[in-house]
Amino acid sequence: MEARPAQEIWETALGELQLQVTRPNYRTWLEKTTGLSFTDSRFVVGVPNTFVAEYLARNQHSLIEKTLIGLTHPGVEVHFQVNSARATTAGNSNLPGGNAKYTFDNFVVSESNRLAYAAARSVAEKPGAGYNPLFIYGGVGLGKSHLMHAIYNLAQAENIKALYVSAEQFTNEFVSAIQSRSTGEFRAKYRFVDMLLIDDIQFISGKEQTEESFFHTFNELHDANRQIVLASDRPPKSLPNMGDRLCSRFEWGLVADIQPPNFDTRLAILKTKAEQQKVEVALDVLEFIAQRIQQNIRELEGSLNRAVAYAKLFGAILTPELAARAVPDITPGSNKTTLSPEQVMKIVAERFQLAPADLTGRKRDRATALARQVAMYLLKEATNCSLAQIGLEFGNRDHATVIHACRKIASDINNDPHLRRKVLDIQQGLRRQPGAR
Ligand code: ADP
Ligand code: MG
Repeated sequence: MEARPAQEIWETALGELQLQVTRPNYRTWLEKTTGLSFTDSRFVVGVPNTFVAEYLARNQHSLIEKTLIGLTHPGVEVHFQVNSARATTAGNSNLPGGNAKYTFDNFVVSESNRLAYAAARSVAEKPGAGYNPLFIYGGVGLGKSHLMHAIYNLAQAENIKALYVSAEQFTNEFVSAIQSRSTGEFRAKYRFVDMLLIDDIQFISGKEQTEESFFHTFNELHDANRQIVLASDRPPKSLPNMGDRLCSRFEWGLVADIQPPNFDTRLAILKTKAEQQKVEVALDVLEFIAQRIQQNIRELEGSLNRAVAYAKLFGAILTPELAARAVPDITPGSNKTTLSPEQVMKIVAERFQLAPADLTGRKRDRATALARQVAMYLLKEATNCSLAQIGLEFGNRDHATVIHACRKIASDINNDPHLRRKVLDIQQGLRRQPGAR
């Protein structure tokens, strides 16, 4: 068989994998990979180093293989190969600390994000002169990071010394600075900038030492009229365990939210993305996708890519019918899967980095107990299993235990957006399994 367009298939696969693993996980392990070759049933993925190759082979082999099978044919085997030359050139489009592809020009403005957009523009143009800090919050995939990068890119273009980091990176650097006794350098890095952008600030809440260090950074920058921009998945007051001092500082400037976009906006975004990628997609197809995907713009974009890739792979014209096959239905109500309880439990265990046997076993540490409860909840929500049957699947637990687990998770996902995201991700993953409906 002739070599297939490996990179094209891989890009589509990455789009899906991005929805199935956590963001840090994606960034660390998948972002810098490439599709090297696809001949017969052998798909070779290029990775930057052996460390990544080992990690992926050990932990994400089956997820990746399943994803590729869904896009190609059964029996595909995935191999990881170190390919450092490609990995370094792939990074060139990104400015250090930022992502050049996110700008104000390609951000679609609508009612749902107008305030955040206007505020972002104004701090980018006149840092330190207006809202300080600017605090942007909103659900996953609604454009917070896009705006952060847009600010960063504009500031850079105007020679403003800006620094963009995720709160996770900030935390990691802080921790290693303490370990290597180089807190002076750490301090200098963050306190001598004109503009500091920290993404996903919710990540530091509850991490006392990091919060403390950020508190001082914040004060010094603010006192010196340097611009601070923060993005979060929820408003300052709802950050659990965030110290009051920081919480109130977050509200000193402007707090701007981003809401899920309405249909017209989703359609406009799809048009922009298709144009950017220089692909022509019929209006009825874009409308179909805008109708189907309502909550998350990253997913909206991923669905467009997937539909386009599908049409290419099959050499077919992209119609709404083909798009319907390419884009899984993730609207609420269609949340039953045809997967077996063991398959569901296996997927849950994988996502919690446990073995399936841990779920059915007797371990009672917090992580295992949570994974077990989530698995019970998902079996109830996503399969047709009865409570008694679910109890049996989990090593003969009684039906009261199952009810308790289901109620607890139902209430926890209401209150804890992280858990909600994780459970939603798993649910989506379930629907994407080969054999799932
Ligand atoms: P968040 O940080 O809120 O989770 P991102 O900023 O990463 O979300 O956005 C996810 C994807 O959606 C990105 O590819 C981004 O370009 C796109 N996106 C989000 N909002 C818009 C918008 N208003 N116009 C164009 N693209 C958008
Ligand atoms: Mg983000």
